[in-house]
Amino acid sequence: MEIMGAVFALGLGAIVGSFLNVCIHRLPLGRSIVRPRSCCPDCGAPIAWHDNLPILSWVRLHGRCRACGWRIPVRYPLVEAATALLFLLLFKSRGPTPLLLQEMALGAALIALILIDARHQILPNAITLPGIAVGLLTSPVRGAFDALHPASPLVALRESIQGAAIGFAIPFGINAAYRGWQALRGVPVERREDGIGQGDFKLLAMIGASLGTRLVLFCLFAGAVSGALFGLYMMWRHGYGWKSKLPYGVFLGGAALLALFVGEPAVAWYRGLLGVGP
Ligand SMILES: [Zn+2]
Repeated sequence: MEIMGAVFALGLGAIVGSFLNVCIHRLPLGRSIVRPRSCCPDCGAPIAWHDNLPILSWVRLHGRCRACGWRIPVRYPLVEAATALLFLLLFKSRGPTPLLLQEMALGAALIALILIDARHQILPNAITLPGIAVGLLTSPVRGAFDALHPASPLVALRESIQGAAIGFAIPFGINAAYRGWQALRGVPVERREDGIGQGDFKLLAMIGASLGTRLVLFCLFAGAVSGALFGLYMMWRHGYGWKSKLPYGVFLGGAALLALFVGEPAVAWYRGLLGVGP
C-alpha cells in the first residue's frame, strides 16, 4: 500500500510536471494551455503520446525533437522530476488524505510561478488568482480535516482570510512607504517606482490563503533574505548594479515550497528565540 501510494505520487507528479512545462512555455506568451495539443515549441510538429512520456521520452530521444532535432532544454525533464519528487515528499509526510491533493496543487502552482518569474519576470494572474480563490474557498472544508493531519500547514477559514489579506497588505504598505520616501526626495510622480511588483502581492495573497499569516511572514522573511543574498552574489560575481531587478517571486515561491515542510517548526523555533511562545 505504502509502495503503491509512493509510485502513484511519483507518476502523478511526473505527469503534472509535464503539464507545468506547457504552462511555463505558453502562459507568458498569452497562448492557450489546452490547444493545440502537445507540439514542439520550435517546429510545431505534434508530439505522439509515446514521445511525450515524462522524463523517459526526453532520455530516449536524447533530448531532441523527433521531427526537427531541436534541442529540448533540460529544464523539461527537470521540472517533471522536481514535481514528481515534491509529490512523493508530500505523500510521505502526509499520507493519503484529501488535503494532500490540495497541497500538491499548491506546490505545482508554485513550481510554475517560480520558473515563469525566473524567465520572464512576471507572475501570471492565470495562476495566482485561481490560487487565491482555491485557498479561500476550500478553507471551511479544511477546518474539518485540520485536526487529522498535524503535518499539513493548511489553515481553516478565519486564518485563510487573514493570511490572504496580510499577504496583500504588507507589500502594499511597503510600496506606499517607498513611494512616500521618493516623494520626500522630490522624485516627480511619473518617475516614482514600486519596490515590489503587483504579481508578488497576488503570490503572497495566494500563499496566505492556503498557509495563513504565520507562514506568509515566514515567506516574506525567507524570500527577502535569500533574494538579498542572491543579489549580493550577482553584484559581486557578475557586476550587477543596485538597481537591477530581482525576480522576487522566485524567492517567495521557493520559501513557500520550504514552508510546506518546515515552515511551522521554523516559525515556532524563531518565536521561542524571541521568548514569545510557540
Ligand atoms: Zn521540432
